[in-house]
Amino acid sequence: MKYFYPKHHSLHKPSVDLSDGLPGYKHLEVASRVDEILRGLLRAHKADVIYVESFSDAEVRSIHDDDYVDFLLDISKEIEGDDEYIPPLFREDLSASPLYFRGGMYCSEIGTPIGKESIKAALNSAQTALNAAAYMLEEKKSSFVLSRPPGHHAGKHRYGGYCFFNNAYLAADKLVKSGKKVAVLDIDYHIGDGSLEFASADAPYYSLHANTQRNYPYLDKNIQIESEFVKLQEFKTGISGEVYVQNVLSFVEKALQKPVDVLILSLGFDTLGTDYTQDEYIYVKAENFRTIGEIFGSLQQEVMILLEGGYDSDFLELCAYNFMSGFISKKGL
Ligand SMILES: [Zn+2]
Repeated sequence: MKYFYPKHHSLHKPSVDLSDGLPGYKHLEVASRVDEILRGLLRAHKADVIYVESFSDAEVRSIHDDDYVDFLLDISKEIEGDDEYIPPLFREDLSASPLYFRGGMYCSEIGTPIGKESIKAALNSAQTALNAAAYMLEEKKSSFVLSRPPGHHAGKHRYGGYCFFNNAYLAADKLVKSGKKVAVLDIDYHIGDGSLEFASADAPYYSLHANTQRNYPYLDKNIQIESEFVKLQEFKTGISGEVYVQNVLSFVEKALQKPVDVLILSLGFDTLGTDYTQDEYIYVKAENFRTIGEIFGSLQQEVMILLEGGYDSDFLELCAYNFMSGFISKKGL
């Protein structure tokens, strides 16, 4: 297997997250996350690291709307120095408004500021997932994508939740177009509300997550999103790591009843009990990630493990080490 690393991710350096109000707190989606995770992966298994340098807006347009991608590129040109852009207001249709206001129809909240080169970094992250998909088509081996910024909250024309482009579904789209049967299975603490928009019979979406009304993204309580290609399950607040691992195992068995060639695993280390993004804490410990790695390493098909959230920098390296140790022990690498 190989690890795929977006060479330009550190161009995205959001300063503060305003979602708790002023003065905001130091942003959690920091560049050091992926280096800590890469250290853990390499300690567990010395795979080749592919440093992906390219970024282009052409391929993200395969799943994201043109006007959305154009807006992100246009607003980036207007940002100077260390300034950051957050839309000043939010409405469904601002297409006739000046550029500065238009972001309010493409953005879900105020915790995802755009810096001058954030979109370049996000395109590089998307390219990393696409390159991993190409590798898997060619080599038929598993991969770990250190996608930063992450992607599962990004919809067809909507950013937020620290995400701009949906890395998992960009990879899924490429694999499906090459004739592969794919499923996206998401075990980030939060539901991937962006990924939900892309679910299809060719690339179903399965997610195990915290309650979606009391935790980000605070979905409408009446929302009906289950369908033949969407399976969702909530875990209970306050559960232990062992119970969470049992939840993962039974969810994987339930979700993966139809055969797939490639499983895309949207992996968040923010299920760790000390992660600040949890509104309702669960008590997953770093050691539980070893068993989670074993669950996915035991599957017949190759797995694209793709990074979503995970913000407790004291434990990211250890979580990644444990996950990969478990994964390779079962994959026989
Ligand atoms: Zn998350």
